Amino acid sequence: SVAFLNGEFVKLSEARISPLDRGFLFGDGVYEVIPAYAGKTVGLRPHLARLNNGLAALEITTGWDDAHWQQTIDGLLAQNPVGNWGVYIQVSRGADVTRFHAYPKDVSPTIFMFVFPIATPPSESPQTVKGLKVVSAEDLRWQRCHIKSTSLLGNVMHFQQAVTQGGNDTLLYDNQGNLTEFSSANVFVVQGNVISTPALDNHILPGITRLMLLDMLRKQNKYQVVEGAIGLQQARAADEIWLTSSSKEVSPVLKLDGRNVGDGLPGKVWQDVIALYGQQKYDY
Ligand code: PLP
Repeated sequence: SVAFLNGEFVKLSEARISPLDRGFLFGDGVYEVIPAYAGKTVGLRPHLARLNNGLAALEITTGWDDAHWQQTIDGLLAQNPVGNWGVYIQVSRGADVTRFHAYPKDVSPTIFMFVFPIATPPSESPQTVKGLKVVSAEDLRWQRCHIKSTSLLGNVMHFQQAVTQGGNDTLLYDNQGNLTEFSSANVFVVQGNVISTPALDNHILPGITRLMLLDMLRKQNKYQVVEGAIGLQQARAADEIWLTSSSKEVSPVLKLDGRNVGDGLPGKVWQDVIALYGQQKYDY
């Protein structure tokens, strides 16, 4: 495939960065993953807004405006075969020889993009969705989970907890027993007519799928939508649990710690809502 690195389109297999890059040495950077189906991106504007927020938080300046990002993303998609791609964007602070923690002054950010294949999403084929098995664990990450940092070790270790137990992801809860998010996605819980998700704060990533779904649900005005605390016990007793992320859209969770969620099948609210998501996902 074709990638983009520091101003040029290059073969991914030939892309090279310095081992002194602070993304490599410190995890000093931010990233985005934007889904694109047959050349059409989903949530481009909010993804770029989150990228800009992350760069501002890290005091990294690229000089790129949204039009420049959009052109480059379109260029990258045009250079690759038509398909279902996750467009990965990473901006790190750049290479610096001192290996001093402080932000170096004369350094230019490394801007890297590539595409990786993503599965047919649930909204395009809801009947064939298998559903996910998850495990739960106390959230042991840091206090800046709202930044989409490339420092993902905390997330990687939590994800691996699920893999070790034969699961698809780990549902995390804080030291009060309230849900934060999955190690690689946000969480929604359904009880009757009420759809809940944890409120945004520094313990969770402001997911773009979460943002779009909340907006669609509020405009539709069919369910009661709540952003607030959800206890793990509440989740265990819920009718439905959903996992949301750019590549998995809204996916039903069918087992939590080996026990069925609801009746152990994709729920009727999910079936309704995935159709809504499929109808409106290109509107953002
Ligand atoms: N939370 C975490 C920790 C993530 O890594 C992700 C990324 O997929 C999400 C939530 C969901 O965010 P988005 O919907 O923007 O993909």
